[in-house]
Amino acid sequence: MKSDIEIAREARMRPIADIAGELAIPSEQLIPYGHSKAKVKLQYLESLEDRPNGKLVLVTATSPTPAGEGKTTTSIGLADALRRSGKNASLCLREPSLGPCFGMKGGAAGGGYAQVVPMEDINLHFTGDMHAIGAAHNLLSAMIDNYIHWSNELRIDLRRVTWPRVVDINDRSLRQIVTGCGGPANGFPMESGFDITVASEVMAIFCLANNLEDLQQRLGRIVIGQTRGELKPVTAEQVGAAGAMTVLLKDAIAPNLVQSLENTPAFIHGGPFANIAHGCNSVIATRAALKLSDYVITEAGFGADLGAEKFFNIKCRKSGLRPDVAVIVVTARALKMHGGVAHKDLAQEELAAVQKGLENLGRHIRNVGRFGVPVVIAINHFVTDSNAEIQLVKDYVAARGLEAHVCTHWSDGGAGATSLAEAVATMADSGRAQFHPLYDDELSLWEKARTIAREIYGAEDLQADQKIRDQFRQFEDEGYGHIPVCMAKTQYSFSTDPRLMGAPSQHSVKVRELKLAAGAEFLVVICGDIMRMPGLPRVPAANSIYVNTQGQIEGLF
Ligand code: ADP
Ligand code: MG
Repeated sequence: MKSDIEIAREARMRPIADIAGELAIPSEQLIPYGHSKAKVKLQYLESLEDRPNGKLVLVTATSPTPAGEGKTTTSIGLADALRRSGKNASLCLREPSLGPCFGMKGGAAGGGYAQVVPMEDINLHFTGDMHAIGAAHNLLSAMIDNYIHWSNELRIDLRRVTWPRVVDINDRSLRQIVTGCGGPANGFPMESGFDITVASEVMAIFCLANNLEDLQQRLGRIVIGQTRGELKPVTAEQVGAAGAMTVLLKDAIAPNLVQSLENTPAFIHGGPFANIAHGCNSVIATRAALKLSDYVITEAGFGADLGAEKFFNIKCRKSGLRPDVAVIVVTARALKMHGGVAHKDLAQEELAAVQKGLENLGRHIRNVGRFGVPVVIAINHFVTDSNAEIQLVKDYVAARGLEAHVCTHWSDGGAGATSLAEAVATMADSGRAQFHPLYDDELSLWEKARTIAREIYGAEDLQADQKIRDQFRQFEDEGYGHIPVCMAKTQYSFSTDPRLMGAPSQHSVKVRELKLAAGAEFLVVICGDIMRMPGLPRVPAANSIYVNTQGQIEGLF
């Protein structure tokens, strides 16, 4: 089998104006970035408001193996299959972060014969959104320090500035730094640190904003630290940064249009972390796609306990989007892992382990049902899967009154997801979905997190030290009681222990830390060690990436 980049290089891309034409977007409403990428003008998208929405399909997965279970590839394969059957379908995916491209192998633009292209561009600088978000974030960092340097009338406590810097490169040495060294001309020495750009609250805001005006207001509400003594929150608006930050994001906020290997239109826009943020592409892109196509396939990061939960409870709640069907992607490999098989042995047939691991899938199926969204199962087929293993999955799913469809889009493109596409379209058209978030806005912040722990993670209870419980109450006193919570925990387990496989129960979820994202409008509830700035592995992928004699990129996936 060819590498992802070799397959991508052979793609027969159509001019981006033709792809836009498939969605009846007039070419003058595009802002082209070369021949194969374009942004779609915001004003045009706003003019579509009165059109009816297409059907919204969420692609999620079981608790994954470290390699990922194939949500992105299945999203792409499914959209391609829908288009092959004559349906007007489009994709909505996240923009990949630059950092991981140079760390571990495995791109975020799909793989095999289910990819979005131009894949090098999408994975690297693309249309510059990531850089714009980084610049807007770091402008605020600079303005905070400058404000403190010149006057600090608000009496910002230098020890309580919580707004870090960002860069989109995995660089562990920057996690904690001291700024302002070298004397009075360089400001006051302060502790700071770098997060990866996709972990910035600016990214989360970018993805939840309804329009430019909303973006500017949300940026203004970002809390950057506290005042000395009274510990009053200080916002980006108070240091005068929100307007200039919005200016830096003005072009980036228009969604990007590209295509799959099979020329299916794909909106790729915004890509927040799935732990400390909500992990799905921009609301603006999803809304646009729903106005322009009959079926919109979108993905949410990690397994359904995190990705789907946040997609429903944060993104859909806030934007009014109503999903029509959810696809849960499962692999025999992941089931074997949940059944206790070591990672190196996942290619061998292990029927008992698959059977045992199915409880993980079962819990995810139950969970998605709790949001009133009907489920279709996609078995993402790996060449190492045995027929008996696949049959076990099919039987288990059938016993729950659902359908499981074996998909080979990774090796066969859209042709490999035909039966999945049929089932998804039928389910979406059935009108069976009765979507509702899991909890009401009025529930207390503590009870919101507790509801997720109990109903989704299967935990006995939520736990926290008194200090954390007091903070929950304090955020309510400050007027944030109505916002949703954004759970940050390991994606490998329903519990907070990454080694606890399957569908654990009777565990308890301990809250370690809270972080308010006032601009994004959620409270991050941190339950475990959460990485905001990854490092590179001993042998990073970057070591084998280079430009060949034809000027082409080699080694990138
Ligand atoms: P997710 O979105 O769930 O993280 P991806 O779709 O990005 O997962 O897939 C993760 C990695 O696994 C990618 O490198 C992809 O090319 C690869 N992959 C996905 N499906 C298959 C498959 N059926 N066979 C082999 N590799 C696959
Ligand atoms: Mg993905």
